[in-house]
Amino acid sequence: MYPFTYTKATDTREALDAGQRGGRYIAGGTTLVDLMRETVEHPGTLVDIGGLPLHEVRVTERGGLRIGALVTMAEAATHPKVRIAYPVVCQALELSASAQLRNMATIGGNIMQRTRCTYFRDVTAACNKREPGSGCAALEGFNRTHAILGTSDSCVATHPSDVAVAFAALEARVHLLGPDGERTVPFADFLLKPGSTPNREQALRQGELITAVEIPAHARPLASGYLKVRDRQSYEFALTSAAVALHIRRGVIRQAKVAAGGVGTVPWKLPAVEQAVIGERPSDRLWAEAADHAADGAHPLRHNRFKVELLKRTVERQLRIVGDIA
Ligand code: SF4
Repeated sequence: MYPFTYTKATDTREALDAGQRGGRYIAGGTTLVDLMRETVEHPGTLVDIGGLPLHEVRVTERGGLRIGALVTMAEAATHPKVRIAYPVVCQALELSASAQLRNMATIGGNIMQRTRCTYFRDVTAACNKREPGSGCAALEGFNRTHAILGTSDSCVATHPSDVAVAFAALEARVHLLGPDGERTVPFADFLLKPGSTPNREQALRQGELITAVEIPAHARPLASGYLKVRDRQSYEFALTSAAVALHIRRGVIRQAKVAAGGVGTVPWKLPAVEQAVIGERPSDRLWAEAADHAADGAHPLRHNRFKVELLKRTVERQLRIVGDIA
């Protein structure tokens, strides 16, 4: 581990000032400290923001749900408001990591977590994300767990978060605070596809802080759920996953929110699947035909061609599961 200085921010202004000077924010530390130990990350200054007042879950004036950036994964997963309104969020959180990690890791940190690409974590391997311009060992290496959607010649790593897939499906917004004040970014624009700059992963400006994630109010109540397919049933990242939310009234699907995980360089919203089911009556045939669009535009790699079919089946199954309870 490289030497670093540590400071604990006592208020938001102090945190922002330290962030402006290049300090890295830390809260639960479950990803960053790991990466520092492995010498993948070597920030000069850590700014502990754990004491800032960002621990609240509340219903907004417009009827949405605002989850403070420092709410832990465990707190969010067990919060009655989250459990009642958005089971897809709870399930995504509960299928992530271990209970110990969920007690430490925060919602803000979760969506900021870095890829599990093994080459990224191996400092002897070429990795454009870790060392811009050095190449990408995964392109010709073992790329079974890598992305098939949103990839570039520079990087094919997946985004590892489960709850981010639920947030993408529900069209959440990320609230940010920086030296120039507050702003809100649609979740779809917050996490960046790699393009030619895979080292740039979020639409954050220098020193900006995530203050909350807001799930907007939906005109109709949504039945929802999250399905995660992985090599083993615990403590494993998704090969594929599907977050689905549906509103069905009088036998017709009125609203559909669908996103996939484990397959994209960012959580992958599936508008073609949504459009295929809206206005239709649920049936096994509909779910299969809609899910057939899930891998539209996919570019599988040598070792992960299986993800194309697995993704379609994952989405089909989760559409059926949520369709049965909606
Ligand atoms: Fe690095 Fe991305 Fe290539 Fe993995 S896929 S080695 S993170 S550039």
